[in-house]
Amino acid sequence: MTALLKAEIYFAIGVPFENVWLKKIAMERHYRRGDTHVGYNKTEDKYAKRSDHGIKDPHIWLSPPLVKIQARHVFNALLFADPGHRSGHEANFKKFMERLDNLDEELKAIFKGKTGLLFLVFHPAWGYFVKSYGLMQLPIEAEGKEPKPTRLRELIEYTKKNNIRVVFVQPQFSSKSAKIIANAIGGQVGFVDPLHRIGWAICVRWRESLRQL
Ligand SMILES: [Zn+2]
Repeated sequence: MTALLKAEIYFAIGVPFENVWLKKIAMERHYRRGDTHVGYNKTEDKYAKRSDHGIKDPHIWLSPPLVKIQARHVFNALLFADPGHRSGHEANFKKFMERLDNLDEELKAIFKGKTGLLFLVFHPAWGYFVKSYGLMQLPIEAEGKEPKPTRLRELIEYTKKNNIRVVFVQPQFSSKSAKIIANAIGGQVGFVDPLHRIGWAICVRWRESLRQL
């Protein structure tokens, strides 16, 4: 909250918990808001019932090709708010787009020939990511909560049958059921954080970023 209160622009990514933050900041001070989640054809989340996000999948920032759309929103907002540093923003935007293209190529190479590869995750955050690279995710959580014992048993059976060795969790959620499944299949729990550095990415510390130009 302290960092957010220093921000002059907030780039929203369209996740439900942001609304609470944004209301709190708006009460404290005036800030500009940039919505980076517009202009998408958000797909209905097949697993919406298993998370608490509603029907449309909000996790656009986990697929490099989709992040390019977000980056363009950020770029346009910066040009509007800070026209005096146009060339700096243009150079940074170009550099960032190149990094996204390289990452996309790298991921395509990693997942080449692995179409349909299924991975087990606690929270279904990887819908757009798996679509971009021809993979599949199977979520453990049920309506934002740990699954019931029957569902857990089904998942263990399914995991064994499909020879899944790693169960992925993210630090924001409980890893209890993931550990139960991993133990039952003799596999491991892998940590992967879809919100890593997002706190910084969405909070542009305006004056500091200007100083760096
Ligand atoms: Zn989520």
